[in-house]
Amino acid sequence: MKCSKCGKKAVIYQKYSGLYLCKEHFLDDVERKVRAEMRRFRMIERNDCIAVALSGGKDSSTLLFLLKKILGHREDLEFVAISINEGIKGYREKMLENARKFASSLNVPHFVFSFKEEFGFSTDDFANAGFEQAPCSFCGVLRRKLLERKARELGATKIAIAHNLDDEAQTVLLNYLKGDFERLLRLNSRREEFIPRIKPLRSVPEKEVALFAILKNIPFSVSECPYLRKSLRFSVKKLLNEIERQHAGIKYSLVRGYERLVELLPKPAFELQRCEICGEPSASKICKACEMLLRLQKLTKNNKSKREFNKGSFRRFDA
Ligand code: SF4
Ligand code: ZN
Repeated sequence: MKCSKCGKKAVIYQKYSGLYLCKEHFLDDVERKVRAEMRRFRMIERNDCIAVALSGGKDSSTLLFLLKKILGHREDLEFVAISINEGIKGYREKMLENARKFASSLNVPHFVFSFKEEFGFSTDDFANAGFEQAPCSFCGVLRRKLLERKARELGATKIAIAHNLDDEAQTVLLNYLKGDFERLLRLNSRREEFIPRIKPLRSVPEKEVALFAILKNIPFSVSECPYLRKSLRFSVKKLLNEIERQHAGIKYSLVRGYERLVELLPKPAFELQRCEICGEPSASKICKACEMLLRLQKLTKNNKSKREFNKGSFRRFDA
């Protein structure tokens, strides 16, 4: 098939837009979408220090590449890359190595922090502790917390997350399905207690991020986390892909519809307090991360784990 814009050989057919695009016009289209979202949400401000959450997968490597391409000439901006090692045996190590090499090829300082060192527990520990919840619920909450803490320590003013259109649509539907409307309303809101999180890839479909990475020779790891398929998010992902196949554009309409809903509703008035354990901003007396760590500590009778636990975030409170 031929590119709808120039007649050259097409590399993709975008069913939702009805366009065939050649390599050049496809790469332009992705970059245009990223620039448009950055402008729409005023993601970048003067003198920002942008901490990019870099996992070594296709999305975050593409994000770092595009941020450097679009903003790399700006002398007022700084970039750092942060990788989190959740402690998932046989999965994360290779990705971290990718992340390290890629950040270094773009001259971006790279930092790695691990759950085990910071909290005393890994995602594997949680998965083996006998909880009913899927490991993702623990892993996601702690990753967010560690990223925020380390970005703050490094002096970052923005945290860039590589959520693509599929991730955004999944998050919206997930929160609907869980009936978590407070969270839904908070998704795009900013609180000064937290470093603003920006998502420049939020309107690029996941498949297009992958194609972009391949066409630009961005190295990325394709391994899948062994816990992914246990999560509700994975079921939602499958469901959305199935609907999208029959009704192209449904992911866009879900995310755009959510944005309109948020505009119509009053801003959520939730009071933030300090977590009694770690001292960080929290919606309740004990933040979700500390609550999970406490549950895990109770379940883990092993003395070694307890010793390690005391070395982590709890020591900050005791000190
Ligand atoms: Fe963590 Fe779940 Fe992601 Fe695996 S799939 S890294 S357990 S959040
Ligand atoms: Zn806490």
